[in-house]
Amino acid sequence: MNKEINIAEELILNPSQFTIIAGPCAVESYEQMECIAKFLKRLGIKYLRGGVFKPRTDPKSFQGLGVEGLEILRAVKKIYKFKIVSEIMDPRDIDLAYDCVDIYQVGSRNMQNYSLLKEMGKTDKPILLKRGMSATIEEWIKASEYIALEGNENIILCERGIRTFETYTRNTLDLMSIPILKSKTNYPIFVDPSHGTGRRELVLPATKAALVLGASGIIVEIHPKPEQALSDGAQSLNFAQFENLVRELNLLKNSIYEKE
Ligand code: PEP
Ligand code: MN
Repeated sequence: MNKEINIAEELILNPSQFTIIAGPCAVESYEQMECIAKFLKRLGIKYLRGGVFKPRTDPKSFQGLGVEGLEILRAVKKIYKFKIVSEIMDPRDIDLAYDCVDIYQVGSRNMQNYSLLKEMGKTDKPILLKRGMSATIEEWIKASEYIALEGNENIILCERGIRTFETYTRNTLDLMSIPILKSKTNYPIFVDPSHGTGRRELVLPATKAALVLGASGIIVEIHPKPEQALSDGAQSLNFAQFENLVRELNLLKNSIYEKE
């Protein structure tokens, strides 16, 4: 396996680094991505997310820029040297995105799309496998085995909340999956506090809890103007809120790891 891109392994070896993957829900334009890239670069963030194939509930809502979105990611990556995280929904798009995407995301709706998982298992890139919104932890682990059995064990498990009777939050973030998965797998565990709550005011507390519980990092949605975002604006942080999150996380990280 190509060591250079064995990000999953790198994350296990450095649990105290608490990696932040940040970016918009969807790639909307070059200008939007350049603005976000400049901002994240200044803060030392190395992983940029941005969906180009969007799994939307309503077929009439914005579906992502597709191939044009990949072009934008390519251009931004070339200048700013981010590792790019982006969702693939169709196995035919794996090759299309190969030169640009460093970590393939499998979204919640596709956690049990076994044909897709098997194809992901044949690639040599890390796979960020989100939890299905109605999946048990056991089902989630089994889904990861579909990828691993094809030869790719470079897997990151990402808790993103599950459906419950509670409607105040978009999903119920099942934070107990972190210690449970840590006892059952060797994969790094990430948390998505954006989809996990659906509310930007809950992103910071959810992130702090994820760190304390031993997660390896977060994937978080940000936008220069969340109120104008084409998708998931209500859960996206603006730049000031994201900077505050980074500051608070560093304080918490120091209190946990440096005084041991
Ligand atoms: C996303 O990351 O924008 C997304 C659609 O996530 P999920 O699959 O967790 O809903
Ligand atoms: Mn989203």
